[in-house]
Amino acid sequence: MTLEAHVTQGPLTTESGAPLADNQNSETAGAGGPVLVQDQALLEKLAHFNRERIPERIVHARGAGAYGTFTLTRDVSQWTRAKFLSEVGKETETFLRFSTVAGNLGSADAVRDPRGFALKFYTEEGNYDLVGNNTPVFFIKDAIKFPDFIHTQKRDPYTGSQEADNVWDFWGLSPESTHQVTWLFSDRGIPATLRHMNGYGSHTFQWNNEAGEVFWVKYHFKTDQGIKNLTTEEAVQVSGLDPDSHQRDLRESIERGDFPSWTVQVQIMPAAEAATYRFNPFDLTKVWPHADYPPIEIGKLELNRNPENIFAEVEQSIFSPAHFVPGIGPSPDKMLQGRLFAYGDAHRYRVGINADHLPVNRPHATEARTNSRDGYLYDGRHKGTKNYEPNSFGGPFQSDRPLWQPTPVTGVTGNTEAPVHAEDNDFVQAGNLYRLLSEDEKSRLIENLAGFISKVSRDDIAERAVNNFRQADGDFGKRLESAVQALRG
Ligand code: NDP
Repeated sequence: MTLEAHVTQGPLTTESGAPLADNQNSETAGAGGPVLVQDQALLEKLAHFNRERIPERIVHARGAGAYGTFTLTRDVSQWTRAKFLSEVGKETETFLRFSTVAGNLGSADAVRDPRGFALKFYTEEGNYDLVGNNTPVFFIKDAIKFPDFIHTQKRDPYTGSQEADNVWDFWGLSPESTHQVTWLFSDRGIPATLRHMNGYGSHTFQWNNEAGEVFWVKYHFKTDQGIKNLTTEEAVQVSGLDPDSHQRDLRESIERGDFPSWTVQVQIMPAAEAATYRFNPFDLTKVWPHADYPPIEIGKLELNRNPENIFAEVEQSIFSPAHFVPGIGPSPDKMLQGRLFAYGDAHRYRVGINADHLPVNRPHATEARTNSRDGYLYDGRHKGTKNYEPNSFGGPFQSDRPLWQPTPVTGVTGNTEAPVHAEDNDFVQAGNLYRLLSEDEKSRLIENLAGFISKVSRDDIAERAVNNFRQADGDFGKRLESAVQALRG
C-alpha cells in the first residue's frame, strides 16, 4: 500500500463539504482582535479533535492487527458441521488482533504480559471469533474474579502505578494462578515479536457434527516462524528504544511480503469422556496433556494484508467469544461463560450499538439479517424494510436449528464449584511445566520471579507467593525462596 493512493484531490472543505478558505488563521474581529464565534470552521475542527478518542479497552488496549487467510488442510467433518471447516483446501478470510493485556493504549510492546490472539473468521455462515491468547491457560477459572484480578494488574488507586503488593497478594491468595504465572515468568512471557509466538484458543469449546454428536475441542496455533523470546534485559532495551517494536515488526514483515503463518491444531475429546476425565476439562487453568489428547493438524493461518487505518480497523475492531457459527458453541468453562457476556458488553459501551456494521466487524462472506434498527451512528442499511418477525412481507425468518447441541446438566443452582475430578489440583501442571524447562530456562524463570516478588512490602505476601511454587515442585520452591531471600536481605 502506498500513502499516495489515499491523498484526496481538491480543496479542503468543512465537515459539511463547503470549501475552506483559510486553514492557518482563525477569523478575528479586526487584525489581532479576539476570535469570533462565527468561525464555525475553527469550532468544528476543535470539537472534532476533542472527540477523536473513544474509551480504550479496559484490558487488551494495546494492539496491532492484520488480515489473512485460514486454509483447511484436513477433513474435520466427523467432528463439526461448520461450513468453513467442511472441505480440505477451503480458504476463509480472517482478521487477527494481537495485544498486550495490562498496558494502556500507548504502552510499550516488549513487556512481560500475556498476548491477546483474537481471530475473526469471516465465514459464509457469519463471523466466528476465536478470542485466544498466546498462552494455553489463564490466571483464574471463574469470571467473577476477573475484575479483582485486573485491578491488581492495573494502576493502584492511591499510587497510580502497578504495585507488586497487589499483584503478589492476589496471586498468592489465588493458588489456581500458579500455572499461568509460571508460564508468564518463563522465557515465553516476553515474545520477541508477534510472529514468533504461538496462539491458543485456551478455553474448551463445543464442536458438533451433522449427526448431532458433541465433541469438546481445544485450538492451538503453532508459529511457523519458530518461538523467539526476549530476556528481561533485552526487553528493557527494546521497550526504551522502540516502544512500538511488535506493531512495527508485524506491519513491515507483511509489507515486504514475508507473511507470518501458524499451523493450526486441535485436541478433540468425545463428549462422554468429560465427566470421568482425571481433571475438570473445562478448567481454564489447565491444559489437556498431549499424551491424553494428541494435537491433530487441521489447517494453516497466514497473515498477508495490513490494515489501512489503525483506528478504523484495529481500534474499532470488536471480537466476542459469543460469535459462534453453526457447528461450534460454548463449553461450561466458567471463564468462557463470563466472557460470552463481557466482550459484547464492552464493545457496546466502547464502540457503540452499531459496531457490528463497521467494515472490519461485519460479515464479509454473507450478510447480517436482523430486525435491530436505529441507535447511534445507524447507517440506514435496512432502508424501508419491515423491522419485525414474523411478517408476511418476505422478511428474514428463524432457522429452527441451534448453532450448538444442548448438553445435560445436573444438580441445583448455587455458587458452587465444578464437580470434583480425581486429579483436580492447582499445582501439578505448573510443576510439569517447570520440569520440562532446561536448566538455563529454570534459572531465568527463578530470577524473573524473584526480581518481582522481592519488591513486595510484607514478608507474608512474599512467603505465600513462594509457597505456591513450592507446592508445584520442591526444587522450584527451594531455589525461589533462596533467590527472594538474597534480594530482600
Ligand atoms: P508435552 O510434553 O506433551 O507438551 C509439552 C508442551 O509444552 C508443548 O506444547 C510445548 O509447546 C510446550 N513447551 C515446551 N517448552 C516450553 C517452554 N519452554 N515454555 C512453555 N511451554 C513449553 O506435555 P504436556 O502436554 O503434559 O504439557 C506439559 C506442560 O507443558 C503443561 O503443564 C503446560 O504448562 C505446558 N504446555 C502444554 C500444552 C498443552 O496443550 N498440553 C501447550 C503449551 C504448553 P511447543 O510445541 O509450542 O514448543
